[in-house]
Amino acid sequence: MNRTEEPAPKASVDETTASNRPALLVVEDEAAIVTPLVEGLERSGFDVTVARTGGEALQKADGIDLVLLDLGLPDVDGADVCRALRTRGDMPIIVLTARGAELERVLLLELGADDYVVKPFGLRELVARVRAVLRRSVERTQGGVDDQPQVIGPLRLDRRARRVWVRDDELALTPKEFDLLAKLAEDTGAVVRRQRLIEEVWDEHWWGPTKTLDVHIASLRKKLGDPRWISTVRGVGYRFDPR
Ligand code: CA
Repeated sequence: MNRTEEPAPKASVDETTASNRPALLVVEDEAAIVTPLVEGLERSGFDVTVARTGGEALQKADGIDLVLLDLGLPDVDGADVCRALRTRGDMPIIVLTARGAELERVLLLELGADDYVVKPFGLRELVARVRAVLRRSVERTQGGVDDQPQVIGPLRLDRRARRVWVRDDELALTPKEFDLLAKLAEDTGAVVRRQRLIEEVWDEHWWGPTKTLDVHIASLRKKLGDPRWISTVRGVGYRFDPR
């Protein structure tokens, strides 16, 4: 189920490519979740190691770029695993949880997790979160945003300089329009939920009317020059794909 027009990746990945794949550690005990999750993540370009207990997670954490951590583990509380991982370094952690979102916001701050996803979640949503957290982690360690502009079809997005070009024409975007486009482009072709755009582009505590988002989307569409690049998924959110 390729979501792009690009040719499917070759079955045998050469060593150079393989070493560039971010290494994820999935800490989850339920086989019904682990199996499809690992398959989906590997298809999405990650190397995946699985730990089914908290003890195993701590043993396997070396050399991992990001941890996906289930809070409900058989041997110890996932929250304790999160704290233990934190004491060992600053690898990013995304918590997978069935618990309520409000509780998690508080818990996240206490635990030092970077983000959380509430079960049941979709693969695309998870992959978008993983990429976003990995990107922020690179920014933290390198002290700068991605050096290389992101090229998506005719569009070039330079996060470091906060500049955007369509073919050779630079677009004059407002700061919020740029943030919105950059957020949508984090996972080109995937639907980004309205609430997430509002929380991450505006303010995470911004629960007011969502008309602001529609106004910015309309303006962005006009400036991009092709309204089809941002499609509306009614009742869900928006999908960006200029290819
Ligand atoms: Ca579990």
